[in-house]
Amino acid sequence: MHNLKGIGVSPGIAMGNVLLIEKKELIIPTNLIEENDILQEIEKFEKAKKESLAQIEKLIIKTRESMGEDKVGIFESQAEIINDPMLNDSVLGKINSEKNNLLLALEKARDEFVMIFESMEDEYFRERVADVKDVFSRIINNALGINQNYFENLSKNVIVVANDLTPSDTASMDFNFVVGFATEIGGRTSHSSIMARSLEIPAVVGVGKDIYNCKHDDFIIIDGNSGEIFINPEEKIINEYKIKLDSFLAEKAILAELKELKVVTKDGKEIELCANIGGAADLKGALNNGAEGVGLFRTEFLYMNNTKFPTEDEQFQAYKEVAEGMGGKHVIIRTLDIGGDKDLPYYEFEKEMNPFLGWRALRICLDKTEIFKTQLRAVLRASAFGKIRIMYPMIISLEELRKVNEILEECKAELKSENIDFDENIETGMMVETPAAAIMADLFIRETDFFSIGTNDLTQYVLAVDRGNEKVSKLYNTFNPAVLKCIKNIIDASHNAGKWTGMCGEFAGEKRAALLLLGMGLDEFSMSAISIPVIKKAIRETSFEKAKEIAENALKLSTAEEIEKYLDEN
Ligand code: PEP
Ligand code: MG
Repeated sequence: MHNLKGIGVSPGIAMGNVLLIEKKELIIPTNLIEENDILQEIEKFEKAKKESLAQIEKLIIKTRESMGEDKVGIFESQAEIINDPMLNDSVLGKINSEKNNLLLALEKARDEFVMIFESMEDEYFRERVADVKDVFSRIINNALGINQNYFENLSKNVIVVANDLTPSDTASMDFNFVVGFATEIGGRTSHSSIMARSLEIPAVVGVGKDIYNCKHDDFIIIDGNSGEIFINPEEKIINEYKIKLDSFLAEKAILAELKELKVVTKDGKEIELCANIGGAADLKGALNNGAEGVGLFRTEFLYMNNTKFPTEDEQFQAYKEVAEGMGGKHVIIRTLDIGGDKDLPYYEFEKEMNPFLGWRALRICLDKTEIFKTQLRAVLRASAFGKIRIMYPMIISLEELRKVNEILEECKAELKSENIDFDENIETGMMVETPAAAIMADLFIRETDFFSIGTNDLTQYVLAVDRGNEKVSKLYNTFNPAVLKCIKNIIDASHNAGKWTGMCGEFAGEKRAALLLLGMGLDEFSMSAISIPVIKKAIRETSFEKAKEIAENALKLSTAEEIEKYLDEN
């Protein structure tokens, strides 16, 4: 038996046989062909192309059905590459004139394409290199008759083990049998982690090379909470984990029963629990877990999983799909929050010494107003199809808030003059995730409809602790009283002005903080969908009076340690 440890990024226990995805380097024969073999090579090429296109078409349909329109772009551009006459001419030329065998011709054509795309001025084309490589490897594999659909004909539960998972991989999986992921690389925000959480299957990522201690078909257990992996475990461990799995499933079933129940304390205080989403693909999980709305739609995924800045129409479709999908429940769309640790594949950000303190989020939008206006127009247009609210990230000054509202008004005027419908009373709020906004909350609230506290950033900025730096991760603690006092100040400021405050940082889904936040008066909690039932249960089992007392006592304590201890005991 081997034990491995990675990062648990999607909770729960999964057991099953390893489905190892190994993407090996292919050996391409270099021999030349005879004149009378040409026809046969061309026929093989046509067949491999046709098969590749059919596979991609299938992925497009499957992705559209299961994940929504915003995820199909990658596959559509791959289909375009296969249909590109340049690809055809290049391969045929090598077979006809240079007497290359098909595989050699494809390899040479791939290298030429990659070189052309890499040398292009336009970022958009340079960033399509990954798609070019993916497409050629698909055609080459088909020409070699290698089955690339690892997920076809599964008949038992499997845990997918891989270096990392691409959108093509996850799009082709059959989740009746794929019960977990374990990957060599990745972190909480990598594609595999986000997918696992939205599919609610356990996942462990960032295990390192040791992950290959698992052999295909080995029996493994993964613990998505602790990040532990057991390869071919002893009977004792299997039994122990069977019990854990049963209690996890039982707890899930209890929580599922809460789905239809209101989020209300014993003494009648109603609270709103919402989901954080990255796109339409997350709606199913949000609704299944009883979300009463979307408290944070992170629109950056629409930009990150793309090959160019998304057009107004592309965005409009994505926002409309979410607004309609929530069936009249409100959706808070956050404007582009890129930069910091979030790059775009088609845009080169200048290297900065401190990217989290640099050119990110709203700062980019206010410099590149054409990008910002495209998004605002798309959000406004979608507001005619559901209950949409807009929210701005990273605000530090009233000048910024006034400027964004001015730009929004410009967009509204444009749409009016174009006779395009939108919700004229659309509410606009701001994230409070900088110390500047937290301290000046009483002034900001006069010029905005609501607050949503971004504790992920607020914690890093108040404590001067990089949220992604493992070396200082022990210092990164939202229970630090300095952060809690900011939170209290923000909520009080909004209430004094007759307005409301939500929270969309991870802290809103932290079980131990639920009563504290409730007692501080937080009006809306927005979190990963899987945390909703847990927080709902905590709120339903207490009274608002009790929670207020807990908050009051906790805020009198002077260290995070004291506060955490007090909350654990109460
Ligand atoms: C936050 O900072 O708390 C937040 C919700 O935004 P993000 O994690 O996307 O920065
Ligand atoms: Mg943030």
